Amino acid sequence: MALTGDCSVVSRILKCVNFAATKHKDQRRKDPEKTPYVNHSIGVAYILTEEANVTDVDVIEAALLHDTVEDTETTFTEIENEFGAVVRKLVEEVTDDKTKPKQERKRLQIVHASTTSPGAKLIKLADKLYNLRDLERSVPEGWTIQRVEEYFQWAQKVVQGLRGTNIYIEQTLDDIFKRRGLL
Ligand code: NDP
Ligand code: ZN
Repeated sequence: MALTGDCSVVSRILKCVNFAATKHKDQRRKDPEKTPYVNHSIGVAYILTEEANVTDVDVIEAALLHDTVEDTETTFTEIENEFGAVVRKLVEEVTDDKTKPKQERKRLQIVHASTTSPGAKLIKLADKLYNLRDLERSVPEGWTIQRVEEYFQWAQKVVQGLRGTNIYIEQTLDDIFKRRGLL
């Protein structure tokens, strides 16, 4: 059966979904149900298309791939060869430097947030929204309430540098921060 409509975009998106699902296949989220990791990658991209009205295919592709280099053996060269230089740049912008200690990486996310491109800001906003919704839903195994609280406070600082990018996501994040008593 032949697809109708814009098949090239469907193919590009499915290539990313397949790539992310393969790369993250052995990873699980930190929630008690141990949800497959790729649910997060797909969910972040879906926030952008379904809730935030984002139509830039490069941004949606990069959202699907956003944790592949940070959390799997994937390289930026591989991303560029498979998906092009624009997607590679976006993934690079949202990837922490894993050679740095964890607390330093978290500090740098706050410092660098405002200097990233609009596309990277969209992905970071959707990533934070997805993670905070996860944390509102359930506490990861082994986390104290204080650790959850500190994560919300840190996320709020990162989001501060991402503002002026997407009204819907920022308003939805602010509703969450209000529920936590942070706004
Ligand atoms: P982590 O950075 O260790 O974990 C949060 C990250 O895990 C998220 O950014 C998200 O990243 C991913 N993730 C996977 N599943 C979930 C889920 N269900 N809900 C939310 N996020 C999920 O958290 P911390 O910021 O608390 O820890 C920072 C460092 O401090 C770590 O080294 C940690 O081990 C250490 N630490 C901190 C403590 C504290 O009290 N704050 C206590 C003990 C240790 P992504 O979007 O990339 O998937
Ligand atoms: Zn993520």
